[in-house]
Amino acid sequence: MPKYPNTISSKLPKVGTTIFTVMSALANEHKAINLSQGFPNFEVNPKLVSLIHQKMKEGLNQYAPMQGVPQLREVLCQKMEKLYRVKYHPDKEVNITSGGTQAIYSALTAVVRENDEVIVIEPAYDCYVPAIELNGGIPIYVQLKAPNHTIDWNEVKKVITSKTKVIMINTPHNPMGSVMTANDMQELEKIVSGTNILIISDEVYEHIIFDGQKHESVCKYPRLAERSFIIYSFGKTYHATGWKMGYCFAPENLMAEFRKVHQFIVFTCNTPIQHALADYIKGCDDYNELAAFYQNKRDFFLKQIKGSRFKYVPASGSYFQLLDYSHITKEKDTDYAIRLTKENGVASIPTSVFYHKPLDNKLLRFCFAKTDDVLKKAAEKLCEI
Ligand code: GLN
Repeated sequence: MPKYPNTISSKLPKVGTTIFTVMSALANEHKAINLSQGFPNFEVNPKLVSLIHQKMKEGLNQYAPMQGVPQLREVLCQKMEKLYRVKYHPDKEVNITSGGTQAIYSALTAVVRENDEVIVIEPAYDCYVPAIELNGGIPIYVQLKAPNHTIDWNEVKKVITSKTKVIMINTPHNPMGSVMTANDMQELEKIVSGTNILIISDEVYEHIIFDGQKHESVCKYPRLAERSFIIYSFGKTYHATGWKMGYCFAPENLMAEFRKVHQFIVFTCNTPIQHALADYIKGCDDYNELAAFYQNKRDFFLKQIKGSRFKYVPASGSYFQLLDYSHITKEKDTDYAIRLTKENGVASIPTSVFYHKPLDNKLLRFCFAKTDDVLKKAAEKLCEI
């Protein structure tokens, strides 16, 4: 194609292709075991698959309501009440989305104006900052503190200004696998009380939390819930990341603004899947089994790499395990992740890319949402190093 005079100036000059796309492609190219991009290699429950099929055959193939199928919104509100003892209105306070990423984009777009500041805790999942910047917002960074990747709330307090519009949080955390505690939530509550600051809480790994810890949702804290968009993902809970299905809870006034944006980004989401999920979730709370299921995976993977030269602190949540390779090489994490894929046949994600100024902690992120045979093979390769 001939190029039209090259007058376009990028709205995202520093952004390239996401690390997940890059590392998955590299893994495929070199036939490496792909523990980079986070997605399970196990099957979706066949009951759920046949429900979708059934809904398609029933003719539920046209646009769903913009807010989402009512039966699904209803069961999700029931789930929130059951899990967190909080009441959301199914018509006014929840919306089905095309995955967590679209929900985050819509929430930010609904509230962030030119020059608004958005506090981002780093390392941060890669879709946050571009969405802030495309809306003219300014990301203000606060870094998680070593060794346990905790938030220093005094630092958060220090960066708040009259321009602070949103604080973004993420628990369980991707990529660090850390979780926020009740104390964190109380600190956040103190900080935002008496301000107009909003919260976007990315809780897509809500069910994947280990060692007897409980997920602390912002919805459990009334002074946080009243100002929060909370983002969830069916993909993570039902081993179906490719469906790109998620949802967002928020109080009515925030949800009204969210919907104004949502309707012009995707209008609505996949109809038969929504109906199938509504039926499936109604009769079954198998999401309660995810924590134990993934804890076994984590422990299996860690047991297999015990003799290796990697160091680790077991992940507290999410399906990601960090491995510290500082005993092995001084290479940059981005270089080592590539070499590990090409030479050792295991793909991972370098964590420095989740900082605005790459911070190389010599930590690689490995996804353990894989069958035991895959984890075993990957671990064998890691142990050879
Ligand atoms: N959430 C997935 C991860 O963290 C990646 C999703 C994507 O590829 N954008 O690996």
